[in-house]
Amino acid sequence: MTDGLDREERDAALRRARSIRALRELAGRCRACDLWARATQTVFGDGPPRARLLIVGEQPGNSEDLEGVPFVGPAGRLLDRALVGAGIDREDVYVTNVVKHFKWRRSPSGKRRIHEKPDRAEVDACFPWLEAEVSRIRPTLIVCLGATAAQAVLGRGFRVTREHGQVMASELGPALGTIHPSAVLRAPDDARDAMLDQLTADLRVAADRLRAPNSPSA
Ligand code: SF4
Repeated sequence: MTDGLDREERDAALRRARSIRALRELAGRCRACDLWARATQTVFGDGPPRARLLIVGEQPGNSEDLEGVPFVGPAGRLLDRALVGAGIDREDVYVTNVVKHFKWRRSPSGKRRIHEKPDRAEVDACFPWLEAEVSRIRPTLIVCLGATAAQAVLGRGFRVTREHGQVMASELGPALGTIHPSAVLRAPDDARDAMLDQLTADLRVAADRLRAPNSPSA
């Protein structure tokens, strides 16, 4: 690999990079695990570099892999709806994923690329990118979408069903876990509205937290 960064090189580069833009450029060369090889490109975080709210999901999906931007596919559109319902302007939010490359397998027909959940080693390998994003942005609150992101930030014992919508302490700062919009999309028809309501309600908790008088400003 001519221009790639193995884990050691990546970690050294991370310590030197000061801005989100510098991190984004470096992430395009990351080879710290094998996921880069089958993905189209690195999908780094996107949003204001001083955002007070950082939302982190699991990994890019098919659309995000092709466009190189997080949360632009169907799950992203659903997230936009929930953010509107919670009174949060997406333009004010930094969105990212705990794993920056798309992990997928071919559908039986060979026509589609199907999401595969990243394993623990892949999440651990990619986590320094999220740590670096948080340390440069210094958000007031982190919202974790789905179990993979929530367990990476809030610990492996975190259960979305039991602990969603609660602001908790984490090594990265105050964080709240909730449902991933992809889970809402995959839910049976009769459960989908209730799940979207739950996601929106949890985001409203985040919005309230940002509005609280003692909440740090950007
Ligand atoms: S998934 Fe993360 S750690 Fe693995 S190659 Fe991509 S950016 Fe690097």
